[in-house]
Amino acid sequence: MSNSSTILVINCGSSSLKFSIIHPQTEETLLSGLAECLGLTEAKISWKYQGEKYHHALAPKATHTDALHFVTTMILSQHPELKAHIHAIGHRVTHGGEKYSQPTRLNEQVIADLATLFELAPLHNPANVMGIRAAQQAFPHLAENNVAVFDTGFHATLPAHAYLYPLPMRFYEEYGVRRYGFHGISHYYIATKTAEYLGKPRSALNMISCHLGNGASITAIKNGESIDTSMGFTPCEGLVMGTRCGDIDPALLIYLKQKLNLTTEQTSDLINKQSGLLGLSEQSSDFRYITENYEKDEKCRLALEVYIHRLVKYIGAYAMLLDNQLDAIVFTGGIGENSELVRRLVLEKLTILGFELDQERNLNARFGNSGKITTDKAHHSAYVIPTNEELVIAKYTAELVGSK
Ligand code: AMP
Repeated sequence: MSNSSTILVINCGSSSLKFSIIHPQTEETLLSGLAECLGLTEAKISWKYQGEKYHHALAPKATHTDALHFVTTMILSQHPELKAHIHAIGHRVTHGGEKYSQPTRLNEQVIADLATLFELAPLHNPANVMGIRAAQQAFPHLAENNVAVFDTGFHATLPAHAYLYPLPMRFYEEYGVRRYGFHGISHYYIATKTAEYLGKPRSALNMISCHLGNGASITAIKNGESIDTSMGFTPCEGLVMGTRCGDIDPALLIYLKQKLNLTTEQTSDLINKQSGLLGLSEQSSDFRYITENYEKDEKCRLALEVYIHRLVKYIGAYAMLLDNQLDAIVFTGGIGENSELVRRLVLEKLTILGFELDQERNLNARFGNSGKITTDKAHHSAYVIPTNEELVIAKYTAELVGSK
């Protein structure tokens, strides 16, 4: 790969396509953007180039392919130098199953394998494959240079006692029913950055990584490897999220299904789209709203309290899994990076583990700043580190595709 080659990174959701062009060596993001509401009448696209922001309405019901076509014909055609240097395309793929943990060059066989995982990740993998197909069409000359990087990959090191559910063993053996874990690209990035911060090899790092965004997960990392994580068979398990419930009594769903006569789809919507902060507050899934209203609104206060309570419980449990030999706890994701309130409330509960908040540092750690937020005399340290999943995907893709 020549010094000027760049990577196009694509991250597809069911109705969205995030794209960025990244220089894997300098780590510079040259262009980034988001197509939203794909498949809907109000499909639109926005992008950022050289500090300027641009917006455009796409044709009603524009698809992922239409969005990428717009990127190549309308955006990149104005910047031929950007287009000419794209050497490969890296895709975020949610679920790699047990077969794919390492970044993998995409061919028809791999894509067919990803399709067999649709039933494990019905909300995500079909969109990922749509993105892969769209990229192959938009960049036919790079068809061989598409790479999948898996969100489950970093958790391939989970030991069996962490990934098995106490269900009949044959469900694991026959259907792959187990805990997979997600947000692996982010947790890997955070582990790598934390090791750099602390000046120690990742292979010697023991930490807890808290990715708190719309989706949220927490990972215990021992000797640089994931040994437990809060998301499971699907990204619905674990912490309270924007609209996902996280851990609940599984028998509760049987009760609600009977009581309300819910269909499978309604049950899925209930736990994935109507619960979490939105369900508790009955107002918003957006953490900023909860922050602005918790002092005057009882339901927002309760939503915040449940959120913190469960996060602290996970941290306590993971500290025990790591024998309290913690190099750091790190907060990342939209909430972890920006909410001094969440970090303060969590760290105030962790004094017994040897954490001592430095509130001035905590207040300064926002808007993309990294930094330590505990005092220098505290036994354990906590940090804020903005995540960068796109960079991880770009680097892995460049590594795998090699030189031009
Ligand atoms: P993400 O999914 O990582 O983009 O994170 C989105 C979440 O971060 C939403 O719940 C936002 O409300 C939350 N968020 C973003 N900025 C802030 C902020 N300044 N304070 C609190 N929460 C924030």
